Amino acid sequence: MTALPSTSEKDSEAYDAIVVGAGFGGLYMLHRLRELGLRAHLIERGSGVGGTWYWNRYPGARCDVESVEYSYSFSEELQQEWEWTERFASQPEILRYLEHAAERFNLYPDIEFNTSVVAAHFDEIANHWQVQTDKGAYTAKYCVMATGCLSSTNIPDFPGLESFQGTTYHTGSWPHEDVDFSGQRVGIIGTGSSSIQATPVIAEQAEHLYVFQRTPNFSVPQGNAQLAPEKQAAIKADYKGFRATQRALGFACHHPPRQQSALEATPAERTEIYEQWWQKGGLSFLGSFNDLITNAESNATAAEFIRQKIRDIVTDPEVAEKLCPDHYVGCKRPCADNGYYEAFNRDNVTLVDVKAAPIETFTTDGLKTTAASFKLDSVVFATGFDAMTGTLDNIDIRGIDGLSLKDKWHAGPRTYLGIATTGFPNFFIITGPGSPSVLASMTVGVEHHAEWISECIDYLEQRDLARIEATLAAEDAWVKHVNEVADMTLFPTCNSWYLGANIPGKPRIFMPYIGGFPVYEAKCREVAEQGYEGFKFA
Ligand code: NAP
Repeated sequence: MTALPSTSEKDSEAYDAIVVGAGFGGLYMLHRLRELGLRAHLIERGSGVGGTWYWNRYPGARCDVESVEYSYSFSEELQQEWEWTERFASQPEILRYLEHAAERFNLYPDIEFNTSVVAAHFDEIANHWQVQTDKGAYTAKYCVMATGCLSSTNIPDFPGLESFQGTTYHTGSWPHEDVDFSGQRVGIIGTGSSSIQATPVIAEQAEHLYVFQRTPNFSVPQGNAQLAPEKQAAIKADYKGFRATQRALGFACHHPPRQQSALEATPAERTEIYEQWWQKGGLSFLGSFNDLITNAESNATAAEFIRQKIRDIVTDPEVAEKLCPDHYVGCKRPCADNGYYEAFNRDNVTLVDVKAAPIETFTTDGLKTTAASFKLDSVVFATGFDAMTGTLDNIDIRGIDGLSLKDKWHAGPRTYLGIATTGFPNFFIITGPGSPSVLASMTVGVEHHAEWISECIDYLEQRDLARIEATLAAEDAWVKHVNEVADMTLFPTCNSWYLGANIPGKPRIFMPYIGGFPVYEAKCREVAEQGYEGFKFA
């Protein structure tokens, strides 16, 4: 064990469990731990609950999973009383929902806000974690990281950035007060989901918007609309059944794939089916045929359909061509938009190809690519996140023999079930690498994890066990399986954050588990039923 320096009056305050992060996962984890009668304490760096939905307040921020599915299922009362207003909820509505849930289950007294965890070291003699924050220190038998998959923002190391006199923003840490771009020349760097949502909204306000694109992305119209009360009422009449269906589907979202290969349909049939799924709206488009993420030839037909849509929507053929991606649909996270491609028909929006002419340097009043200079008042970094591992890497986490998690994962994250990692006893990760995480509805994933972890902790408490730790053999086998399944798909073929490819120097490993949520859930159940097979106890 590596001793941590002691600090303030809170030094050594003892809990049964520390939970880090007050998003969907952390809040429910806290609730479950309290139901077990444990003393749990949740630490959150923000000033409020919400996690992703607290930080990502950029214009146009909206969930790409339908609101009736992207919500807690554990409380029948909560799911009956909450009324969603739109098919896909906006950031403010999801944030209000989480604030309501935190209030309703009286979670606030056990949450410490504005506090960052800087270190967590396992004490092998006391069998507990020493958790150091920027305000104080705690001990706890269990440590649960509910720190999210996309919570460490990435701002590329652009030369001259510090000299820029305008205002900069990152979509993932947006100010709480209103940002007014009226009359401004705005640059947005990046064309992932965040930019695709923000671009049409900023374009309506800014004097001129420059969209700096390195790699174009596939986007499908989201088809957002007000949620008809009768539709919501019908779901509420059998919410239990609705949730069960959801959990039985690969991505834990409704819209199961059609059971047909794209190659079995004639070109005319394919176009008709793609058109129908395009009209349905949202990411379900990938379910129009059942082999789009596994068969390159099938995928190419979907890619060409979307490229044709782009050419139909964008009036300037040169701009349209630049917006057409050439990777497989889905290997980078696909996007759902509300008028993204249409925004490029506006006179005040310019697409800048920074693959052809990369950004060379920021200047005091804008930036320079290798081809041109742009005068900008504000720059929005929509440049993504150090996904899945970044936040954990930023905390000095040390397990047995002082092994640091960052060192253990230097060649890529290694977990058992995405929940535990060998050498780190009584340490759990919610939706960690190696779990379906971002490839299933996050709310389903986090509820599953909070339930599995709390049942596991209960198992230990009932038996007076001091420690649980994943065995190396179980971890090796799981890592191998996660990689094998990923390699059966087209996912590892392009530079995505799923692979860590957006962060220079990050090892290229496909991090989420793509075997499907039901398969994963069954494996986790089996592990628990076999007395936590693949774990050792002390
Ligand atoms: P992202 O998908 O990682 O996109 C980052 C963008 O920044 C990419 O276009 C990337 O280009 C570009 N970029 C990075 N470094 C650059 C550089 N040095 N020069 C030029 N361009 C650079 O990030 P995101 O859009 O924030 O989305 C992350 C994830 O969050 C999504 O995939 C999704 O899972 C989630 N999200 C969900 C929603 C929703 O629910 N609707 C909304 C927003 C985000 P390259 O592709 O060339 O690397």
